[in-house]
Amino acid sequence: MKLSEHLFVCEPGILRLTLPLPSGPKHVHCYFLRSEDGWTLVDTGLGLMETPWEEILAELDAPVARIFITHMHPDHVGGAEAAAAATGAPVLQGRLDYAQCERVWGSTDWPEHVAAWFTRQGTTPAIADELIESGHVFADFVRFAWNPTLVEPGETVDGWEVLWVPGHADGHLALHRDGVLIAGDSLLAPITPAIGLYPESRPDPLGDYIETLHALERLAPRVSYGGHGETIEEPAARAAAIREHHDERLDKVEAFLTNEPRSGFAVSYDLFGRELPPIQRRFAIAETLSHLERLVAVGRASRREDDRGTAYTAAS
Ligand SMILES: [Zn+2]
Repeated sequence: MKLSEHLFVCEPGILRLTLPLPSGPKHVHCYFLRSEDGWTLVDTGLGLMETPWEEILAELDAPVARIFITHMHPDHVGGAEAAAAATGAPVLQGRLDYAQCERVWGSTDWPEHVAAWFTRQGTTPAIADELIESGHVFADFVRFAWNPTLVEPGETVDGWEVLWVPGHADGHLALHRDGVLIAGDSLLAPITPAIGLYPESRPDPLGDYIETLHALERLAPRVSYGGHGETIEEPAARAAAIREHHDERLDKVEAFLTNEPRSGFAVSYDLFGRELPPIQRRFAIAETLSHLERLVAVGRASRREDDRGTAYTAAS
């Protein structure tokens, strides 16, 4: 039910705020969770477009008591500084997630570092250059909040249990209370969360994510509210479907491997085709690599590292 110009009532005490994005799924959902002392705002949109926080806050019946960040991707953390300024509320972010957030968005050499890493994965110079350029552009409008209150999985935030749901991001957190999951991007429909391998990330993000999906199936919440797309009425079934999608994709990637070493970049052409703009090619390579590393972890592929870079073969 639409409550006002900006807010949609998911159920009593849970409001959804949908903000525009220039690319990808074109929107991101933030949530307001009602508590005794006001509202908890979950995620903050991108810093690029100005969010009319004053107007939005005027539609609430109580102040925002805290801001909770699910993960450090631009569309979730990029508006944190502005949201904190508008509300005067403290920002809460996971310890691991904040460490990666500061490294990626708060250090000037990150785009060059990422480009060098992608080059080791076989990426062409044109794509590496594009990565550097777009990395600096992005870093300019990701305005995360410095020095947030750090939270750990297992803690509670105003009665909501903090869950660690790694995969889409290493330090991704979700909130769970009374069968309601505020999932961030850990569980989405109809799109499938991107699971990519990146420099300085945990070694097997797809393995982490498969564990997360199993955990969400066991948790079996009544409903899940995600960062993009639709409300999920059967979260356990959705988690199982996403797990099967990755099982199929693992079979596909395994079938692309031979005794001839191949880079993640080369395998990404088999998996995602040749016609991708550089920005999407980056996600395609990262997604291909997360599947290759999962195959290596379970003995279904081998990795070779030398001065030419990283390459993969069929299991020897
Ligand atoms: Zn997102």
